[in-house]
Amino acid sequence: MNLLRRHPIALGLIVLVMLSALTQVPPLVDVASGAPPPDADLVRPVLYTLFAPIENVLDALTFLSRDRALACVGVWTSALAVYGLLRRGTPRRRLVTAVLGPAAFLLLCVSAVLLPRPVPALVATDSTLTVIDYHAHTARSHDGRRGWTLMDLADWHADQGFGASYVTDHRVPFAGGVEDPIRLLPGVELSVYDQHVVVLGDVAPIDPGPFGRDTRAMLGLFGELHRQGAIGLASLPEYWVHHWDDLDAFVAAGVDGFEIVNCSPRGLAFPTPARTRVLRLAGARDLLVVGASDNHGWGKVTCVWNLSSPSAHGFGANRVLARPIAVAQGDWQAWTAAYTQPWLMFTSLSWSERSSWITWILVILIYRAVPRRGGDPTGIGILARSLSLKILKLKRLPGAPSAP
Ligand SMILES: [Zn+2]
Repeated sequence: MNLLRRHPIALGLIVLVMLSALTQVPPLVDVASGAPPPDADLVRPVLYTLFAPIENVLDALTFLSRDRALACVGVWTSALAVYGLLRRGTPRRRLVTAVLGPAAFLLLCVSAVLLPRPVPALVATDSTLTVIDYHAHTARSHDGRRGWTLMDLADWHADQGFGASYVTDHRVPFAGGVEDPIRLLPGVELSVYDQHVVVLGDVAPIDPGPFGRDTRAMLGLFGELHRQGAIGLASLPEYWVHHWDDLDAFVAAGVDGFEIVNCSPRGLAFPTPARTRVLRLAGARDLLVVGASDNHGWGKVTCVWNLSSPSAHGFGANRVLARPIAVAQGDWQAWTAAYTQPWLMFTSLSWSERSSWITWILVILIYRAVPRRGGDPTGIGILARSLSLKILKLKRLPGAPSAP
């Protein structure tokens, strides 16, 4: 009871880690079925599992839609500031805590975007399938990260198990030709009349002007792409936000497929009921459904992979595999992000990640629970002494005379 009063955060975290296991979800799901894929696995590097608490938090921050990210930052920074002000201590100390808490949280958010770190990789057991990304950018896009080269893009994908990726910079066609460390395929992204169209194939530069007059003109783009031997996919979130009532017209005009998961902050807001509608439409009309990292050079992890089979076409040609937290978070109201995102993170932990969390919490708890002697240096020495004290206590038999 005394321990609970003195260390409520540590004990609360242990309860959360254990309780969330009751509603554990798989680390990876086939988006069409909602079930874990039988022929692919998410492999976490040893360092990822070792530092699971920080890695999981950085991933969870990466997989927030824009509105949820804003809500999460707003609530957590305010809560940490209030917590700092209400703590015991001198006014100066309370003020320092009230500033450092929110600053640490913001640093965590920046780390999610910038920090190099180990990342999980998708491994498919069937070698005839290609792990592929259909939508990614380099510095040649106006909103791409400065200095983000084709090689950076290829390395980013290779680290996460991709075997190939289309390069779809805005308005700047990529002709392909890169084979190492992964195959980079030709593509471009065109923005016409509130719709982004991901073009797969080697096309000549296309003037979007004539297609930008209205929805009808925009839909004419698909015919032009087919004339050039390319295919066009409707990108998220635009068709959902701007053309939700036009989807049948998209199909009639020859759209080749739809993105159903997009890892960009705006794309992550796409909710499950809308995805179900698009899956039904694409299934009935034998159209592709794909997942898109839509990576612009920021962030280390993708929320989605595709398993593409060369022998099939249409709906059956591609399977979309995603991190369930990224898909599920779009179903929650933005204002709930400060608590629903951590909960979704905990429910999607593997048992090895749970063990890592518990170990780290206990190590920190023991470090903090043992009172320091005057003159003790901080750091690992205290931890060693704490552990040896605990071991001595454990070794002492019940009822045995205590040491003089
Ligand atoms: Zn894009």
